[in-house]
Amino acid sequence: MRTRGGVVYLVGAGPGDPGLMTARALELIASADAIFYDRLIPPGALDGARPDAELIYVGKTPGDVPVISRPYGREITGTSIGQDEIHERLIEAARAGKAVVRLKGGDPFVFGRGGEEGEALSAAGVEFEVVPGVTAGIAASAYAGIPVTHRDDASAVAFVTGHEDPEKAETALDWAALARFPGTLVFYMGVKRLADNAAALIAAGRDPDEPAAAVERGTMEGQRTVVATLTTLAAAVDREGVGAPALIVVGPVVRRREALAWLERRPLHGRRVVVTRARAQASGLATALRGLGAEVVELPAIRIEPRVESDEVRRAVERISEYSLICVTSPNGAHLFFEALRGAGLDARALGRAPEGKQASEGGSGIGGQARSATTVAAIGPGTARALAEHGIVADVVPERFVAEALVEALEDLELGGERVLVARAAEARDVLPDALRERGAEVDVVALYETVREEPAPEAVELAQGADYVTFTSSSTVDNLTEALGDRFPAAARVVSIGPITSEAARAAGLEVHVEAERHDVDGILAALLADASG
Ligand code: SAH
Repeated sequence: MRTRGGVVYLVGAGPGDPGLMTARALELIASADAIFYDRLIPPGALDGARPDAELIYVGKTPGDVPVISRPYGREITGTSIGQDEIHERLIEAARAGKAVVRLKGGDPFVFGRGGEEGEALSAAGVEFEVVPGVTAGIAASAYAGIPVTHRDDASAVAFVTGHEDPEKAETALDWAALARFPGTLVFYMGVKRLADNAAALIAAGRDPDEPAAAVERGTMEGQRTVVATLTTLAAAVDREGVGAPALIVVGPVVRRREALAWLERRPLHGRRVVVTRARAQASGLATALRGLGAEVVELPAIRIEPRVESDEVRRAVERISEYSLICVTSPNGAHLFFEALRGAGLDARALGRAPEGKQASEGGSGIGGQARSATTVAAIGPGTARALAEHGIVADVVPERFVAEALVEALEDLELGGERVLVARAAEARDVLPDALRERGAEVDVVALYETVREEPAPEAVELAQGADYVTFTSSSTVDNLTEALGDRFPAAARVVSIGPITSEAARAAGLEVHVEAERHDVDGILAALLADASG
């Protein structure tokens, strides 16, 4: 075990992009007994915490960015407490034998008071470990396309605080030395005093025309960069309404952005897109959208409630060997189907046998007339097929279009008379598939593996959604639930993107105009349609 009790881990959570958290940070968060965290930690940073871990908010700086995503279903409470009290509580928790994570934005030793906390722990004889984080000075600059050093422009970089402890009597900043500093100056906490600091630098001899930039919310959703000169940056920052957290970079390296501003070149940069899928499924679409530069607002309108313990599911699993065909109609269905099998002590091998009493001799009934020696498995689309594959099953049938009608068509060659068929799906699905199979003489059992229930959207996310450019819908249930949940707070100016005709119909029925409909009814199809619309 690399995580021990009685130890305090001073952990840097990086600048905001969850992808910039270190492997060690994630490992410690996942195993900690108690996590004391600040305001400026990445969204979702605590999602991996143990369900029974204590999460204690100890942020001090009001007005910074709120933590938007809460760990699953858990309310986080906490009030801001003073530095001395933080020390006391860390010591107390460690002495109680807990593995304690003290999670801070960026790096704990760069303007993070990690030094003070480490000293307090040291004085109290409490063991601690320091886990560096990617500091904002490096990360926000990099995401803005500004290399803090450059062979031709800067052989040194200085990290400077732009806002000193107001209780300090004298300024510790030596403006003359900073003006002479042969390299890039990076100011943390420098927005409020930007005008004064720039004036002090210029008065001390720094070139008034030196390029300077402010990077707001570096590496986070909605990152923004304002470029000017040392003389004009304060006015530009004012005009653009740049707010915390922001970093100020001063030096000729700022000009390198012209070639290096990689993030802002992404096709969906500056577009805010609402993703309405259930949280568990949203990540694929959200990740892809972020990769294209979009600012993603996750507004899960529905949540999956598994029903794998119901009597109907149990009965179906008991007679699993009697089915000659099993149809799975969603990735969730695929995962939960195997969960249901597992519950009965079974796995993929349960589908490896021919239905009882119908061995391969009855050749004609398999796909394409082949002898069947195992249960035929049909997936409604490639996402479902992928989910099945994760459990060791290669689907025999995957239609080209991902709707029930297409699956019915794809199953046309199967002799179904008298055969037992299992349709494993959501509680509220349409009956197109079972009806069609029954018509062809099959004995069909339909079981609901899960139910989709409405999820109340987080107020912060609803607020963010107001400024959305796009709202994406991937199923009719997300349309119904989101429009009901938002009511007149549905972002009226956003363009509505639907995964396909059935979802579009639901959207129109809910009074929405559908601006974009995907040609392929899957995540890639949605992305392609959205990109085409955004560039058109
Ligand atoms: N320990 C942190 C810094 C904490 S001081 C680190 O290593 O990054 C807080 C200041 O850091 C903010 O006022 C701002 O200047 C800067 N900062 C933190 N996160 C930032 C971000 N995502 N983008 C721009 N600046 C950021």
